[in-house]
Amino acid sequence: MKIRDWTTLGAMVIGVAGVGIAAKSLLPENFATEQMYGQQEEIVDASTWPEIEVSFLRCGHVNLPEFLVVRGALSIATHTNAYSAVLIRHPQGTFLYDTGFCADIYAYLKDQPLFFRTVLGGFVFEQALSSHLQQLEIKPGDLNFAIASHLHWDHVSGIPDIPGVPLRLNRVEYEAAKEGLSGPNSELVWRLMGNNPHRLFDCIGPAYMGFRSSYDLFGDGSIVLVPLPGHTPGNTGMFINRAGGSRLFLIGDAAWCAENYIRPATMHPALWSLFTSDDATARQTLIDLHRFVRQHPEIPIIAMHDASMQEAFMTVETARLVRA
Ligand SMILES: [Zn+2]
Repeated sequence: MKIRDWTTLGAMVIGVAGVGIAAKSLLPENFATEQMYGQQEEIVDASTWPEIEVSFLRCGHVNLPEFLVVRGALSIATHTNAYSAVLIRHPQGTFLYDTGFCADIYAYLKDQPLFFRTVLGGFVFEQALSSHLQQLEIKPGDLNFAIASHLHWDHVSGIPDIPGVPLRLNRVEYEAAKEGLSGPNSELVWRLMGNNPHRLFDCIGPAYMGFRSSYDLFGDGSIVLVPLPGHTPGNTGMFINRAGGSRLFLIGDAAWCAENYIRPATMHPALWSLFTSDDATARQTLIDLHRFVRQHPEIPIIAMHDASMQEAFMTVETARLVRA
């Protein structure tokens, strides 16, 4: 066999292997969901839960084929990822969970590398955080604080619209971000966080709803933060427990959509590896959420990019407020 034939054969083998790997990356994979059993849940006291108003403020979106969002979905149907802030009006404080986009977002992104501007920054801008707040007649000064689920640029991009509003951050996440362990673009993250004062909290309270530890924000059991690590070291979820027993569970970026924890399934490995700081920990978090959704189908789990869950929640919420 001539050298050229060997080269051709080699190229064919690599080509076939490449197609094989690409095809395999689309197929579902097994999750060790047996690890989810045996979790003890404490009894929660609902008598102290107050009226809390929750509004998703959608600032932008990006459309992706479904097979990129859910491994094994084998569908090219359009899936929408939202970029949102959540406004929470609680008797002890009005605050945000994540911040959406500020009005000047493009000015912050313009000096980022081409890959960032065309891929990560290739979203459709809809409405700035400041414009949402204005519509709701809330001045930035009316916000008592803002919590970031984690320190990725797309979760702190609204902060320039709320200068001076204190930030509450999970210490694990803050320290990992300082070390550059929460992902790329950390310079952009710090720039977006500006000079807003920040206060760190520790999720070192007791296990909560099957999650290993917690932080009870107001001490009344109504807002309980739980660590959901893996996407970043300190990705933090938040239970909102409201009078009358209406509850919801915000999960930052522990998943992109409900399918990720219902199946469970990661996103396509190319995206999963790009956005996940610790593969094994992030998978365990998906298993924990899978266990939770099976035990508590009555509590909506809402990921911060899950456009359809956010829309569904707002539809039910608007109807609830009209009835009240
Ligand atoms: Zn994100």
